[in-house]
This record gives sequence, C-alpha cells and structure tokens, in this order.
Amino acid sequence: MEIIEAKYAGMCGGVKYTVTSANEILDNNPGKRVYCLGELVHNKTVVGNLEKKGLVVIEDINQVPDNNIVIFRAHGVTKDNYEIAKQKNLTVYDLTCKKVIDVHDKVEAKSDSFVIIIGSKTHAESIATLSFAGKNSLIIESEDDLEDTFKVIRDSGLKNVYIVAQTTYSSKKFDVLVEKIKEELEKDNIEVIIDKTICMATEIRQEEAENLSKQADYTIIIGGKNSSNTKKLYEIASKNCNKVQFIEDENELNIDELDSSVNKILVLAGASTPDESIIATKEKIMSM
Ligand code: SF4
Repeated sequence: MEIIEAKYAGMCGGVKYTVTSANEILDNNPGKRVYCLGELVHNKTVVGNLEKKGLVVIEDINQVPDNNIVIFRAHGVTKDNYEIAKQKNLTVYDLTCKKVIDVHDKVEAKSDSFVIIIGSKTHAESIATLSFAGKNSLIIESEDDLEDTFKVIRDSGLKNVYIVAQTTYSSKKFDVLVEKIKEELEKDNIEVIIDKTICMATEIRQEEAENLSKQADYTIIIGGKNSSNTKKLYEIASKNCNKVQFIEDENELNIDELDSSVNKILVLAGASTPDESIIATKEKIMSM
C-alpha cells in the first residue's frame, strides 16, 4: 500500500501564528483565565490542548468578566466586539489572521460602494467581514441568492460594487458567481470591482486535492468537521475518488475500509490540522 504525499497538508501560516501566539499568552499568564471568543481555530485537538493549559472558549464577549484577558480567534470577530472589549477594560490579543484583517480593512474603506462577500452565510469569518463592510453589503453563498441581491443593489442606487471572498471559499464557485454578477450588473452600467481575496494557502490545497485525488483509489481527509477549507477538500476529493473518509483525527480512522483493493492512499489535511494528527494517521495506515 502506497501513501501519496500531499505537499501542502496541514496548518497554514496564519493558523500556526495564531496557535503559537495563544500558547505564549497562556504560558505568560499562569493561573489566569484566558478567554477566547469562539473556537481559536477549527480543530478540536488543537483547541482541546489549549483548554488543558487554561483557555476558556466563550461564545459571547459579555461572558468575559471585566478587566480580564480575551483572545480574538484566527478567522476574526465582528466589529462591535472591539468596542465592547474597550468598555469592559479587557486586555485583547487579536490573533485574527493578517490576511483576514486585510479583508476587513478593504471592505471598511469601500463605504462608497455596495460590498458583496462571497462565502458561507453562517461562517464566522464572513459574518465578521460583513460587520466591517457597513450597511450596503451582503453575503452571497450560491446562485439562489443572486436575484434578491440584484434587487437590493439596484434599490440602493449605488453605481459601484466591490466583491471580496471568504478567504477559505471555493475558488471555482467564486469565479462562477462573479461572472454572473458582472454580466447582470454591467447591463445597468454598475461598475463591478473584483478582489479575489481567497487565500493562496487555501487555493494551493484545493488544487493539490484536485490533482492528487485523481491518482488515488482511497482518500483520507483529516480536519475539523466545522472547518470550511477542510470541507472543500472533501468535496473536491469526493468528485474524483470513489472512496473518501473524512476524519477529525487518527482516532476516527476506520482501517477496516482499507482492504486489499486499496493500493494508493492519499492523505489530505485542512489548514487547521496539526502535524501530530497527520503523522499519527499515516502511522496507523502503515501499521496495517
Ligand atoms: S487559510 Fe489563509 S487566511 Fe485563513 S488562516 Fe490560513 S493563512 Fe490566514
């Protein structure tokens, strides 16, 4: 049995920075409660290890007692949280990935345009970006949203549309949606500016998944079940490879499925997956 090595599996630079910084903050504040607004990154193993060191994950900043420490997660928080943190005199460690902050800054500077964020409506990153974009903005997730969007834009009277993406969104889906938006709005002389803010770390992983999954007769995807970029890898691999297993970590691996018909196994991992999970999964496969 051969394992096909993916060059770009596992933690991206942004997640590594966030996790390393969170560890340092916990080490520098022994015995203190350090709160994190939402999951720091979308990986249970990583978050579980930090919780053992004292991290307390909360869903609402109002749960943090005044004068305490709070971390803002890798994929960002909504704008109002910065203001509430000030009012509560919290010490904020903003560990939002720099690439996500860059998107917040860009949409905030476009108050004269209608801003479209192409991404998942329920993903924390898109919701946070929307909060920086102001009132003339919305999130588009699929073609089903287009008709309503065109109406809202026309009603706004604005003649410029600025489009960005959730950094972990599907590159192909973004391109298809952007073409349709341009085609429709340019009929009304509305200028459409496209800023494809999908992160290279995500694009490279998606391209690799596309190419390598065609060569494999079994694909294993390791990553958080709530991780957007990991779910995209699963979608891509499922198109090209008949057998795909999506696991959170090595403990979930069902080795009974890797029978004698399997010769080439591809192991892919999302941008929040730690190296330990990838190594342990490969070891488990090789020990068969
Ligand atoms: S995928 Fe890109 S944007 Fe997202 S955390 Fe990693 S480096 Fe940052």
